[in-house]
Amino acid sequence: MPDVDVLVVGAGPAGAVAAWEAKRAAPELDVLLLERDRAVGAPVRCAEGVGDAGLREFASPDAAPWVARKITRVVFIAPDDTEVGVAERDVGWILDRTRFDAFLAAQAVAQGAELRVGTEAAELRRVVDGRWEVCARGSQGAATWRARIVIGADGVETMVGRWAGLDTRVPARDMESCAQYVLQGIDFDPNAIYLQFGDHIAPGGYAWLFPKGVGIANVGLGLVALKSDGRNARQYLDAWVARRYPRGARTAYTVGGVIVHTTIKQTWADGVMLAGDAAHMINPLSGGGIVNAMKAGRLAGRTAAAAIREGDTSGQRLAAYHRAWMELLGEDHLKYYRIKQALEGLDDDFFNALARTVNGIPQRQRTLGRIFAHALLKHPQLIPVAARFFM
Ligand SMILES: Cc1cc2nc3c(=O)[nH]c(=O)nc-3n(C[C@H](O)[C@H](O)[C@H](O)COP(=O)(O)OP(=O)(O)OC[C@H]3O[C@@H](n4cnc5c(N)ncnc54)[C@H](O)[C@@H]3O)c2cc1C
Repeated sequence: MPDVDVLVVGAGPAGAVAAWEAKRAAPELDVLLLERDRAVGAPVRCAEGVGDAGLREFASPDAAPWVARKITRVVFIAPDDTEVGVAERDVGWILDRTRFDAFLAAQAVAQGAELRVGTEAAELRRVVDGRWEVCARGSQGAATWRARIVIGADGVETMVGRWAGLDTRVPARDMESCAQYVLQGIDFDPNAIYLQFGDHIAPGGYAWLFPKGVGIANVGLGLVALKSDGRNARQYLDAWVARRYPRGARTAYTVGGVIVHTTIKQTWADGVMLAGDAAHMINPLSGGGIVNAMKAGRLAGRTAAAAIREGDTSGQRLAAYHRAWMELLGEDHLKYYRIKQALEGLDDDFFNALARTVNGIPQRQRTLGRIFAHALLKHPQLIPVAARFFM
């Protein structure tokens, strides 16, 4: 049975960056990255939007082949279809995740990690010398490795977490079901993303249009099933698309889950760390998780490298990873989660009125900060929402 130092399960953004960083921090280590799918990055279950600053911590998007579109505007759409354009420069990017995830995995390989696609981790067993045995199956048959540290970067449905005895359950109210089409031949500003809220549009979530090019976009929505009227995400999406983009050709369809909760209480065990969606490291307000996953992967990879060099892969040592994550973003997510809960108490009429207030601010001055300050003055109902940010 081959030994490896670090075995990473899942070659999404969290896993690829974890393998890359572990190898970069300690080139002498054997790092193995397993991916269940036959191709890294496919199928795409994502709207592919990321912020500029977070992305640049890992790679430059300028002229990169894995970028689909640069975004310089955000358009919020109130439940009654009132549009509010927000002026921001260098807001973000729409990725081509098939290429982007493959790019990240290639960085790990270039650093010296081994990547095996079409290989699914199927079992994790603790062995006597403090290592983990990882059994996998796939196109090349079954295989087992013995690893000092396992990083579970296996996404929303993580099994690594469960095998390691970590509590990765999600409250039903914090699980969004998403459906998305790639629509072609539709009309919109290709430099803008569009977000629409409303109980009849996407209860507990929102609908989005993220441009992939002129006339081509990811068009989808996420909702909380507990709050819906019995229709599923696809039925809500069909209604939204029929109303807003009736002539669009639906050239791709995908579904997926987004956990809009806070980081799990414990992301580590003896010889194990969870990173990315597997540990619920998604921004609970926006549902964005790509950059978070990369940041968590970076922390996990570096922690693994340091722990192995020190000869201490105990849970106590790896708890430093959790602390670093909470300091970096986890504590912020607790605040965002409280805001999400407070916003849930406001109804469509409130958001329609808010949109009209905000449209009173000249477009060029409409930054998110100004909108919020202005909205607080005009809509005192928002004060408890703001207060929760500081609680
Ligand atoms: C519809 C939708 C739209 C979204 N839009 C956005 C967006 O616009 N912006 C944003 O930032 N986030 C978005 N997200 C969230 C984002 O996709 C995730 O947060 C992000 O992909 C998390 O990265 P990850 O590496 O943790 O997990 P994943 O990207 O899910 O990667 C996990 C990988 O592990 C592999 N795997 C699973 N089990 C095993 C196993 N047993 N053995 C081997 N491999 C395994 C999977 O095949 C997968 O490749 C969206 C999500 C959905 C569902």
